[in-house]
Amino acid sequence: SKNAGRSCFHIYSAQLKAEADQRNVLEIELREAIWREEIEVFYQPVIELGTGRVKSVEALARWHHATRGAISPAEFIPVAESGGLIVELGNQVLIRACRDAMTMPSDVKVAVNLSALQFAGTNLVDTVTSALAQSGLPEARLELEITESVFLADTQENLKTLQRLKGLGVSIALDDFGVGYSSLSYLTAFPFNKVKIDKTFIDRIDRCETVAVLKSIMQLAKTLKLSIVAEGVETSEQVGRLHSLGIPLGQGFFFSKPVPLADLSWPSPVPRRK
Ligand code: C2E
Ligand code: CA
Ligand code: CA
Ligand code: CA
Repeated sequence: SKNAGRSCFHIYSAQLKAEADQRNVLEIELREAIWREEIEVFYQPVIELGTGRVKSVEALARWHHATRGAISPAEFIPVAESGGLIVELGNQVLIRACRDAMTMPSDVKVAVNLSALQFAGTNLVDTVTSALAQSGLPEARLELEITESVFLADTQENLKTLQRLKGLGVSIALDDFGVGYSSLSYLTAFPFNKVKIDKTFIDRIDRCETVAVLKSIMQLAKTLKLSIVAEGVETSEQVGRLHSLGIPLGQGFFFSKPVPLADLSWPSPVPRRK
């Protein structure tokens, strides 16, 4: 009936309003946390499968909320993006990561995630240049991880910025590879140094379709002289399959969860393959 429809609408809009209010509160609290520099950075090692050595660490933002406890970046990064806070947050993570990397062994790189929105507006190249200068980190030890979303908006401008970033001597990795729509074309659109194969492929690595896809990605990577990382490695069986496929690098809970700087260990805490 008409009435039922109307009350349905009321419930629906009340719920939407509650969700919007909650998001606004979160945004306000996030702004304060960024302002007070309370966002922390954890690190997850990337392991060379053949040797068990830590080749790099990925910087991952962490927010410990006073009452709600740990809030996942999967939740607060989108809030930072929609609230115009991602540039400041991204800058804080970048400088922190560069400084922390200076305390790590000099053959270990640090990888920092960039939001596509950091490419818009402010000068990302200057930001990266000054993070390197302020920390003293050699440019060759910094890796920037981007997703194909960087290619979706303002493509020409973003591509130029990406080229200038690479020109600084930092390396550029394509993250979450395989989950997008036209990842293959993005791989050839820019001279990436590395491609990170999304966890969803590693989850299904026991299927022959997945193996076929991985083999063709490896073929392409070889042609393009790209390094490959398998993300979200959780089991020794997956490590075995990756190693026998010839995928050189792995990252995931099997090796280590993201941890605070102080909890990283050198050499890696990795169970070496025999
Ligand atoms: P991502 O860049 O793809 O990072 C990998 C995510 O997978 C991390 O989640 C990591 O903790 C998780 N992970 C690693 N190994 C495993 C595993 O074996 N199993 C499972 N189930 N998960 C694993 P996290 O730290 O929650 O970050 C989620 C996403 O938030 C990141 O995905 C990235 O897109 C974004 N993010 C995190 N920190 C930053 C940042 O500083 N800047 C930007 N722009 N985005 C960030
Ligand atoms: Ca990443
Ligand atoms: Ca990823
Ligand atoms: Ca992801």
